[in-house]
Amino acid sequence: MEKEPKPAIIPNRPILMSEGLVKYILESSVYPRESEPLRELRNATDNHPLNFIASSPDAGQLMALLLKLLNAKKTIEVGVFTGYSLLLTALNIPDDGKIIALDPDRNSYEIGLPFIKKAGVEHKIEFLESPALPVLDKLLKDQANDGSFDFAFVDADKNNYWNYHERLIKLVRIGGIIAYDNTLWGGSVAMAEEEVPEVKREWRKHAIAFNKAIADDSRLELTLASVGDGLSICRRLL
Ligand code: SAH
Ligand code: CA
Repeated sequence: MEKEPKPAIIPNRPILMSEGLVKYILESSVYPRESEPLRELRNATDNHPLNFIASSPDAGQLMALLLKLLNAKKTIEVGVFTGYSLLLTALNIPDDGKIIALDPDRNSYEIGLPFIKKAGVEHKIEFLESPALPVLDKLLKDQANDGSFDFAFVDADKNNYWNYHERLIKLVRIGGIIAYDNTLWGGSVAMAEEEVPEVKREWRKHAIAFNKAIADDSRLELTLASVGDGLSICRRLL
């Protein structure tokens, strides 16, 4: 019997650097400073069949720094999976900080939950088992939520990035940050369509359109950092 062709996976890892350099960065600067519960959560995620979609720890380290620089207290996360970025966020906001974490998949979240509990930060997290858009719309119905978040991390369905952006740019305060993950999409954004495996093409198109739209958005300052699979960091200006 003929074997099913293996679907091309999109490794969520640095793409602008050699593997050796990535390994060097992780081993010299990221892993030695990664806290115990984060490391344990990352190792537990390794057994998940979709382990490649977890955030890369070097992108996480950059996010931790941003959270500290912002003195972030209230954040939103769109796309939790097993919770690497969620635990990282929880560890980098104060004890009375709060994260609204959105994902329709509770099972994956529960893989990371024991490590979140062990780290003593579960009280900062409100996990809602739901697609993100309806929750963001509900938050926007209460004006008290406008500009009330310091930070948002978007790492879910790429075809909705612009929809998330339209909502988060209102929910995050002026001076606050919205970070979008996977905006280099395995390097496919810089390739001709024919060169890209079919499974990646649709999201490649969305990523290209999204990258252009935020580059044209005068409401924010922007950097597309070539860390992980590309992290677009937007700071709200108006
Ligand atoms: N930030 C995570 C990785 C997220 S992977 C980490 O650090 O490991 C993408 C996640 O987005 C998946 O868990 C998937 O269930 C979730 N997702 C898919 N569609 C979504 C939606 N509409 N709203 C919120 N989350 C969604
Ligand atoms: Ca990601």
